Amino acid sequence: MTDTTPIPFLDLKAQQARIAPELRRRLDAVLAHCQFVLGPEVAELEAALAAFCGAAHCVAVSSGTDALQIALMAEGIGRGDAVFLPAFTYTATAEVPLVLGATPVFVDVDPATFQIDPAHLAGRIAQVRAAGRLRPRALIGVDLFGQPADWPALSAIAAREGLFTLDDLAQSFGCTLGNAPLGRAADATATSFFPSKPLGAYGDGGALFTESAERAALFRSLRTHGEGTTRYEVLRTGMNGRLDTLQAAVLLAKLTVFRDELAARERIARTYDTALAGAVVTPARVPDSTSAWAIYAILLPDAATRTHVQTTLSAAGVPTAIYYPRPLHLQPAYRDHHDGTALPVSEDLATRILALPIHPDLSDAAAARVCATLRAALGARSAAR
Ligand SMILES: *Cc1c(COP(=O)(O)O)cnc(C)c1O
Repeated sequence: MTDTTPIPFLDLKAQQARIAPELRRRLDAVLAHCQFVLGPEVAELEAALAAFCGAAHCVAVSSGTDALQIALMAEGIGRGDAVFLPAFTYTATAEVPLVLGATPVFVDVDPATFQIDPAHLAGRIAQVRAAGRLRPRALIGVDLFGQPADWPALSAIAAREGLFTLDDLAQSFGCTLGNAPLGRAADATATSFFPSKPLGAYGDGGALFTESAERAALFRSLRTHGEGTTRYEVLRTGMNGRLDTLQAAVLLAKLTVFRDELAARERIARTYDTALAGAVVTPARVPDSTSAWAIYAILLPDAATRTHVQTTLSAAGVPTAIYYPRPLHLQPAYRDHHDGTALPVSEDLATRILALPIHPDLSDAAAARVCATLRAALGARSAAR
């Protein structure tokens, strides 16, 4: 009989069992000192994360979304400013400029790598300048699904156009570009420790990286209500954007196995690449990079095939997910802020993309079952036509 035991899309319990002693030790230390807000683990984590990606400064914050918001607040971005970002990303990337009164300008993505398309970005900046209604101010480049965006090309355009660059590394902490971990490619880098991200906490969390001491000081002030050198001196409008000490403790425990986990994800990705070659479009690799494999996304020929595959796999105990079923410029919350430009690649990907399970505790046998079930589903479908 075929095995239909459900395969977890993500297995946080298996991971917890692997790191249990270190996790316990870290949590007990916090329970002993009771400094739950900005306790010593937060500074220890900031130093460890900065060292991990070779960044000069790290400021731990309450979520990836708050990291993005603090970075734009520090830059004074608001009304009348155009913030360029990909249409094919998680909603938080577009939400933050709008919350600050700025206008998101959606850019299409590359059909092979799914990353923001530098050529289309250049065109969109020219379009905004020609319309003369908004000031081009910032670029949020998203490193989608674990892979880095084309930062050399993005940075060149931003430098030419005088744009502030913000790297949305929420999905891809741990990836490398040109042999260096990502974290200093932009003026500021924001990441997330949402539980399902490659490095996830047990709740919300995030971090900012920058090479600038002035920016880092601003980020620290903004995450604590815009405070000055003393707690009761308020220099600017800030927010409550701190990372909990308990989450820092969890992340310190998880960091001890993070490199091994990245290697395990890479091994599963290679298994998928080989076993699925010819059957589906497997993810194209960004040149000169390694992926953190937050998401392994395949492309199917059309929406009907995707529905068939997803239903068949689900019945066989193989979970899948759709990132993203609708590009942001077509979402009810954003379409009124969009200038109507067609973004055909993002629109097409949304109809055909499908994410397979990938996590460090996925066994080789489970990965093989995912591939065999997927191949069988596609075979049965083409035979039926
Ligand atoms: C998850 C995510 C965020 C937001 O992170 P949170 O920690 O959930 O606030 C931002 N951008 C992208 C691309 C994400 O995937």
